Amino acid sequence: MAQAKTQQLTRSTQPHPEFLWHSGKLVPWEQATVHVTSVVWTAVSAVFEGIRAYWNASQQELSVFQLDAHMKRLAQSMKLMRMADNITTAHVRQAVLDLLRANAFREDVYVQPLVYFAEGIPGYIGVLDRPVDVLITARPSPSTLEDEGGVTAGISSWARIADNVMPPRAKALANYQNSRLVPTDARVNGYDQGIMLNQAGKVTEAASSCVVLIRDGAAITPPWSAGILESITREALFTLLRNELRMPVQERDVDRTELYIADEVLLCGTLMEVKPVVFVDKYTVGDGQPGPVTRKLQSLLLRAARGEMPAYAPWLTAVYGARRPAVNGARRAAVNGTRKLATVRARA
Ligand code: PMP
Repeated sequence: MAQAKTQQLTRSTQPHPEFLWHSGKLVPWEQATVHVTSVVWTAVSAVFEGIRAYWNASQQELSVFQLDAHMKRLAQSMKLMRMADNITTAHVRQAVLDLLRANAFREDVYVQPLVYFAEGIPGYIGVLDRPVDVLITARPSPSTLEDEGGVTAGISSWARIADNVMPPRAKALANYQNSRLVPTDARVNGYDQGIMLNQAGKVTEAASSCVVLIRDGAAITPPWSAGILESITREALFTLLRNELRMPVQERDVDRTELYIADEVLLCGTLMEVKPVVFVDKYTVGDGQPGPVTRKLQSLLLRAARGEMPAYAPWLTAVYGARRPAVNGARRAAVNGTRKLATVRARA
């Protein structure tokens, strides 16, 4: 009995979580299938989000970080792809919470909702208003905000995709062919990360994170129009920089050589969180150690995300709330109570 309980509590450390979300309902991981014609080409036009949920052990609460901002960006990506609105972000939002409860996670988690054209429609054929379907997976992903080390970066020889080619502000799977080339190339050349320039030779972003530099008491970062994803972490850091560190933020074009002479450089994104960059193209950034502003941002972001800074409570959505004391019970309730969510027409 005691052993069964332990197994339940440690469920999420299994190779995969018990449930994923597909096509309007919670599905046991092993039973989630799609028809073979749905794979490969369908993915070309799929859009997705990467979301983190943070576990607070003392509050026994799991909180999704910036859930509404992620839903807003998902709606933007769907609109850019001209997807039909048979699935709303209100539906996806609820499904994310239901999935987290169903898996009874008691640790930091990474959640990935993916919206794709249903019915195996080839992704390279122009489609208008075809219905979409949703797949959501969630997996344990411990925060690295307390890690001490920094990373090295090189300017990639691959340029960032442009808004008139494949819009970077759409979080579309296909864009990640550009992203995938970059870290592979960086590693071949002995760096941890690659930073891309745009066609004008200005700094854009890394493969899955944005770039911020600290120079003479200001935080500087390329604007959306440089060709970057509209990063939610970057926005959160702006708020922390302004409110907590009283540091001005400048969104403007950045030359690659500015990275070489910056006091600090950091990469930020949902999965990566905040990562100090200590060398760029083998130029030492600052003194070659993670800098004080980056360190402070790491600590502030972690405290805010874990629900330890009341001022930032609006950034968080509690997963368990009143269900908290009975996590396993909550999981069962979530599974039993799953509605086959009806098709909703109005986009959230
Ligand atoms: N740029 C790209 C290309 C990304 O994939 C990500 C990760 N989503 C980011 C930037 C950072 O965005 P966010 O802070 O919203 O995760």
